[in-house]
Amino acid sequence: MIITMSVSAERKDIQNVKSKVEELGYATKLFQGERKTVIHVIGVTEREKLMKAVESMPGVENLVPILRPFKMASREFHPENTVISINGKKIGNKEIVVIAGPCAVESEENYLEIAELVKAAGANFLRGGAFKPRSSPYSFQGLGEKGLEIMAKAREKTGLGIVTEVVSEVDVPLVFKYADVFQIGARNMHNFHLLKTVGRFNKPVMLKRGMSATIEEWLMSAEYILSEGNPNVFLCERGIRTFERYTRNTLDISAVPVIDNLSHLPVIVDPSHASGDSKYVCALAKAAIAAGADGLMVEVHIDPSRALSDGKQSLKPDVFMELMQDLKKVAQAVGRTL
Ligand code: PEP
Ligand code: MN
Repeated sequence: MIITMSVSAERKDIQNVKSKVEELGYATKLFQGERKTVIHVIGVTEREKLMKAVESMPGVENLVPILRPFKMASREFHPENTVISINGKKIGNKEIVVIAGPCAVESEENYLEIAELVKAAGANFLRGGAFKPRSSPYSFQGLGEKGLEIMAKAREKTGLGIVTEVVSEVDVPLVFKYADVFQIGARNMHNFHLLKTVGRFNKPVMLKRGMSATIEEWLMSAEYILSEGNPNVFLCERGIRTFERYTRNTLDISAVPVIDNLSHLPVIVDPSHASGDSKYVCALAKAAIAAGADGLMVEVHIDPSRALSDGKQSLKPDVFMELMQDLKKVAQAVGRTL
């Protein structure tokens, strides 16, 4: 529910309304604009009761219920685009953000080399998994803290922020120490305890779409993070599971404009996990930017044939370099920059 206070509302009116709402057991958030003050009421369960209690209080201009099941993630709640500042870079504004690197951190030498190459190509953030959620328990599971240390070294050398996945609640404080962005992977999009935990930390979160999740379920997961107090969430479309087998997943390109319509949160696309095949990554990356995505996450490896995970979908550095040049043109065509 959004309560708009009239221009003539006094401080005590605003305070009284806020207290009344809190008395009814709801959390509030106050937005004081130049002319008007707006009070956001979070998690309303008894709308009629709240409206009755507040609508005729001094200073109240109107009350607008948020009808969507996701509240704080909705455009009704926050009409302006959310822009997140991370390590000197903004996501959600005109500039396209590119996150690149290998699927997993494999060794220091290998990671630092890839980091320098993707930076030279124009990437803005480094990716890499230290904790790998693999479909098989027998596949490479990541280097753990050692992997995080290597990423921190790469940040020191390149100045690029690091995006890395946290797979369990117990690892959140550890990953917090090293990462610039918490990545929540597709397999954990429904892990509400993990979502709540990252919601209590002051660090941006990239929330990937679950492989069989609807857009509404995905936004409800974002809501879990936002409602714990962390406003810095961006979404990552990484393909959904369909009947098609020539690609690993099916990139739901329509999710980009749909999210833009429903939510103020930035949305990026991961064409690597969406296609599962390096042959298709560049086409999907360009399509994503053309469709209005705020950025991309792309897997790049020095020698994809020897990668410990996701080699088939990883771009070689020279192909990534070329892609970045092509993306500049696509970005320009849709009024963005890269
Ligand atoms: C990843 O980005 O490393 C990853 C595991 O992707 P997803 O969670 O989308 O499968
Ligand atoms: Mn991967």
